[in-house]
Amino acid sequence: MRVLVINSGSSSLKYQVRETSTGEMLLSGVIEEIGSGDVPDHGAALDLVEAHLQAEFGGDPGLEAVGHRVVHGGERFSEPVLIDYEITRAIERLAPLAPLHNPAHALGIRAIMRKWPKLPQVAVFDTAFHRTLPEHAWRYAVPNELYTEHGVRRYGFHGTSAQYVSVHAAALLGIPDDRFDGIIAHLGNGASITAIKGGRSIDTSMGYTPLAGLVMGTRSGDVDPSVLTQLMIRGEYTAEQLDSMLNKESGLKGIAGSSDMRAVIARAAEGDEEAELALTIAAYRVQKYIGGYHVAVGGAQAIVFTAGIGENSWQFRERVCSGLGAIGVKLDRIANVEKSREPRVISTPDSAIAILVVPTDEEAAIATQTAELVEEAAAAAESLQDQAQT
Ligand code: AMP
Repeated sequence: MRVLVINSGSSSLKYQVRETSTGEMLLSGVIEEIGSGDVPDHGAALDLVEAHLQAEFGGDPGLEAVGHRVVHGGERFSEPVLIDYEITRAIERLAPLAPLHNPAHALGIRAIMRKWPKLPQVAVFDTAFHRTLPEHAWRYAVPNELYTEHGVRRYGFHGTSAQYVSVHAAALLGIPDDRFDGIIAHLGNGASITAIKGGRSIDTSMGYTPLAGLVMGTRSGDVDPSVLTQLMIRGEYTAEQLDSMLNKESGLKGIAGSSDMRAVIARAAEGDEEAELALTIAAYRVQKYIGGYHVAVGGAQAIVFTAGIGENSWQFRERVCSGLGAIGVKLDRIANVEKSREPRVISTPDSAIAILVVPTDEEAAIATQTAELVEEAAAAAESLQDQAQT
């Protein structure tokens, strides 16, 4: 099935066309500066996408479905859904939980409804895979009303990636995906780590928002919440300033001055102490989560590295694994430095836990889930029609 995968942000729209029968990526692009004079709105952005498709595929681009990356599915969505007006409203109503993302997704969905009203659209939620977390992992120890009245709980993100990588890791180990117990370290600009038990997510480091957990490019990850309240009480910073600092000025950037892992590693290699410290803190945070999740899953079969840093930085993988000797991890230093785009094992045969690198592909996962749902819905409609005729 030819699927248009859309990641609709407030000022940008990323897109890919995927052929799900072969897994091929046929085309990709990004429209930026939506809201500016040239591209006034998401409808205008979609006109540009259409022009690109027509230039590539001719008059009829042959699209059969659209799959949307949707950041927040709240408590309601535990799997992909076919989009209609009610679902679009539901995505919008989750705006308080994802103010930068969900309203922008709804704009993209509506623009497609107007341009291609017959094309089925599917929402694939970044939070959905984490709907299997047990309550003790998703509840915070705060007064109940914060949960019941304000929806304050751990939601987790990067779920589409964690699920995709988990299935491919199980395949690499030669075990069914519902028997896989492991830890997925998604280390990119945004970074999170997920504990998988029997193929399901049972804990994850991001929380109510994607700020919690690991040290990221510009995000702090875990900090004592009193840091914020104290600085506000003392009147030294406003809530908005602190929100911006923790999301945009912290992490690698806050300590080493750059959010780009390649630059930080290069500077550390030249002896820069701040860069070295940033790497040490970031790697230590990953190690702590791995130790905790190894216990949570009852003994991991594998630790899996993915995303920009996880897939490409042998140096960062080596730093993380060098602190995991206590749980029997043995990195194969030669396999670790070999470059490849394929899923692979980088631990020694006698390592107690396999160390894997599995490239993630969120667009492929969204396209596949979209095609499956659209095919299911078509089959269900056909069988209803058959029943009505008999
Ligand atoms: P992502 O958000 O998944 O695209 O990941 C972006 C991060 O991956 C940035 O910090 C990049 O510096 C990092 N990255 C990409 N390629 C490499 C590489 N070869 N070595 C180290 N870090 C890399």
